[in-house]
Amino acid sequence: MIGAGRARADDKPAARQLLCEGIVKILCVSDTEMPQLYNAVNLRRQYSDIDFVISCGDLPPGYLEFITSIIGAPLFYVRGNHDEIYKNEPPGGIDLHGQLVEYGGLTLVGLEGSIRYNRGAIQYTQRQMHGSVLSLTPRLLWHRTARRRGIDLFVTHSPARDIHDGSDVAHRGFASFLNFMKWFKPRYMLHGHVHTWDRRKQVQTQFASTCVININPFTVLEVDPI
Ligand SMILES: [Zn+2]
Repeated sequence: MIGAGRARADDKPAARQLLCEGIVKILCVSDTEMPQLYNAVNLRRQYSDIDFVISCGDLPPGYLEFITSIIGAPLFYVRGNHDEIYKNEPPGGIDLHGQLVEYGGLTLVGLEGSIRYNRGAIQYTQRQMHGSVLSLTPRLLWHRTARRRGIDLFVTHSPARDIHDGSDVAHRGFASFLNFMKWFKPRYMLHGHVHTWDRRKQVQTQFASTCVININPFTVLEVDPI
C-alpha cells in the first residue's frame, strides 16, 4: 500500500508497522516548528511507529534532534536556505544533498537550498541547480542498471518550477527538478520552502510518474518498498 496524508495532532495512534512487514512509515517535517512535535508525550503516543524522519529544511537542529531522539528514529535531511547554522551545528543524521542513500529498502536522493534571491550561502541559480542534477546523473544511471532499482524519494527544500512554487523571486521553483522527475521517475518528490497556512493551497500533485508533496509543516508518508 502506498499512502500519503497530512498528519494532524488528533490522529489516532496507528498499528505498528515494521520494516520487515513491508510498509515504511516516514515522518516528514519542514519549515515550521510544530508544538505537538516538541512534546515528548505526544511524540511517543502518536509517532512511536515511525521508521525514519526526513527533514526538507529550514528547521533548527535542536528541533530535529528532539524529535529523532524521542521516537528513536534516524534522520535524513537537506538544508533549506535558512539553515546556515548547520555548518557549525549540523543535526545528527545523514545530509542527503548530492547523495544517493539506500535505507529500509528505499532509495533516497537529495538536493538542498532554494533559488538564489540574495547573497545567502544555500541558494542556487537555475543553472547551478541544473549542474547539480547533471552531476548526479552517472550515479543514478549506475544505480538503475546495477541495482535494478529506481529512486523512491527525491528530497528537496525548494519546489519544482510551476508545481507548488510561488510567483515571487524567493519562492520560484527549479526547472531542473522537472527534468529530474522526467529522467529518473522518482516515486515521490518531497519538498518544503512554500508555506501552507492557507488550507486551500494545493500540496500534492502528480507529475509524470512522481507524486509531488509539499510536506510543510509535517506529513506522515507510508511507502511500500518495491
Ligand atoms: Zn526555505
